[in-house]
Amino acid sequence: MSDGPWAFDAWNELRPGPRFSLADLDTSATPGFSGGSTKAGHLLAEIGEATSDLQERLYAHGRSGGTRSVLLVVQGMDTSGKGGIMRHVVGMVDPQGVELHAFGVPTPEERRHHYLWRIRRALPLAGRIGVFDRSHYEDVLVVRVDRLVPPEEWEKRYDEINAFEDEVVGGGTTIVKVALMISHHEQYKRLHQRLERPDKYWKFNPDDVDSRAKWPAYQEAYQAVFERTSTDVAPWHVIPADEKWYARLAVSQLLWQALVGLDLDWPSAEFDVAEQLARLEATGT
Ligand code: ADP
Repeated sequence: MSDGPWAFDAWNELRPGPRFSLADLDTSATPGFSGGSTKAGHLLAEIGEATSDLQERLYAHGRSGGTRSVLLVVQGMDTSGKGGIMRHVVGMVDPQGVELHAFGVPTPEERRHHYLWRIRRALPLAGRIGVFDRSHYEDVLVVRVDRLVPPEEWEKRYDEINAFEDEVVGGGTTIVKVALMISHHEQYKRLHQRLERPDKYWKFNPDDVDSRAKWPAYQEAYQAVFERTSTDVAPWHVIPADEKWYARLAVSQLLWQALVGLDLDWPSAEFDVAEQLARLEATGT
């Protein structure tokens, strides 16, 4: 990896290995970073600038017939900070080049189709950064935990998802999958805070307490996701997210690394530069 503002190989360091156990993850850790939130904020701004520059190259390539794109998939329990990632990380780059999709409970129309139908329709165009706030992984998370389909149905989805992502990557999209992981107690604190402050009530959803009551089943479902869908073509990155600033820093680093990995130069001019300069001069200064 080339060194950017933060010389931390988040891409490899945050990948769950073959013996990864979610139960043993320290969600309050800040791997690769020893400073606090202030220092992280400065670093985040620097990574943002570097990312912005690379995004412009990606966009320029898309405009010149390039086929590459990036897809950031963000998963996590309620209150894990997905919204903050959207604002603080995705918000650092030019909105013109970003396609953001949030996936909620499927609409009646979506329900009439295969679960990947709505996902395929939301894949980023060439030159863009697609962002999924929740994703097809809900179809092996909430769907599994709430038994919305029989086990034999969700069981086969892991392989199906791997095949789907393989196809997407084959088409030129780099997939960055991040899972924001908080502790049970941290979630309690965040939900409690939403109930303490009138300016946070709007964020509180009584359903979140129901999901919280199923914490162990969700942990099990996430563990299965990491074991079965962290492939070489589209690996997972498990982000300790009790410290919001760390999660933002780590995700911005991953996005930056993905863009660096595209290894894009500025596209060459499709016109004769000298000729166009001469034409411009001829119109007067
Ligand atoms: P958020 O909680 O991310 O702020 P919402 O309040 O809109 O956003 O919640 C989205 C809800 O949609 C979540 O409870 C999530 O579990 C649910 N959901 C997403 N995808 C599916 C799916 N495929 N099947 C059932 N429920 C889903």
